[in-house]
Amino acid sequence: MRIGVVGLGLIGGSIFKNILEGKKHEVVGISRSVNEFNVSKDYNNLKGCDLVFVCTPMNVTLSILDKLNEYLDEKTIVTDVCSLKEFVSKKTYNYKFIPSHPMAGTEHQGWEYAFPDLFSGATWAVTLKEDTNKKDFELLKSIIEEFGARVVLTTPKEHDRAVALISHAPMLIAQALCKNIEDNELAQQLASSGFRDTTRLAMSNIEMANDMIKMNETNIKEVVSMLNSNIDNLYNSDYKKEAGKIKKFREELYK
Ligand code: NAP
Repeated sequence: MRIGVVGLGLIGGSIFKNILEGKKHEVVGISRSVNEFNVSKDYNNLKGCDLVFVCTPMNVTLSILDKLNEYLDEKTIVTDVCSLKEFVSKKTYNYKFIPSHPMAGTEHQGWEYAFPDLFSGATWAVTLKEDTNKKDFELLKSIIEEFGARVVLTTPKEHDRAVALISHAPMLIAQALCKNIEDNELAQQLASSGFRDTTRLAMSNIEMANDMIKMNETNIKEVVSMLNSNIDNLYNSDYKKEAGKIKKFREELYK
């Protein structure tokens, strides 16, 4: 199979390096900064690809998807990896587009930090469109599984709400928790592993974080108000019983 990757940062670079290392498929890249391997700035390099991963920041992905229309036809399957799925799902293209989102990443960005095993053991959300054909989905799924990830099917709307719950709102809350102690030197001195673990998402890639909070604002605000009412409910409940149930739930989640 000939596989293309556009944007060789953390995610695209990891996809590229994984395929390169696997030696099962031919991989070609489109990059403004990487000059090694089978990588070029010229989108003609993507011609003849069976599958293309678009791995650019969310704020430029729509224009990249439009640009691909000039180079690809209905023989090619294209997927993106954006952290939000509704905004990319509205248009149709000459090629076959199946939006997706790997649930893997680190606080770093760029090719230097990309590594082939990034997706090992991760889930990878895929949102099918009405006209998605089963064979194309199966092909995308087989490649995602070669990366060591597991496909979870969802809809763009459900996806964007779920990621607000597990990723975007927690990131904003982690940042707010850091701001809470900005002027408290004692709290900073006493902060230990609990605070470090709770605020890990405050280390997210800033450009991506900015796209997330702007583009998923409604869902995030809903989660924050849900958080406030859950805190109230905990105070007004049989606290020990509720906290015990939560501890069990958390244990199961990461078993
Ligand atoms: P990244 O490391 O910053 O990589 C993005 C790459 O896109 C850059 O290295 C650059 O690659 C290219 N690029 C940047 N600006 C561009 C522009 N204006 N026009 C064309 N290409 C441009 O970011 P990332 O973490 O890989 O994120 C990429 C996508 O993955 C985003 O849509 C993000 O939502 C999604 N995602 C990220 C994570 C995560 O945790 N990081 C997880 C899941 C999904 P070249 O220098 O090669 O051109």
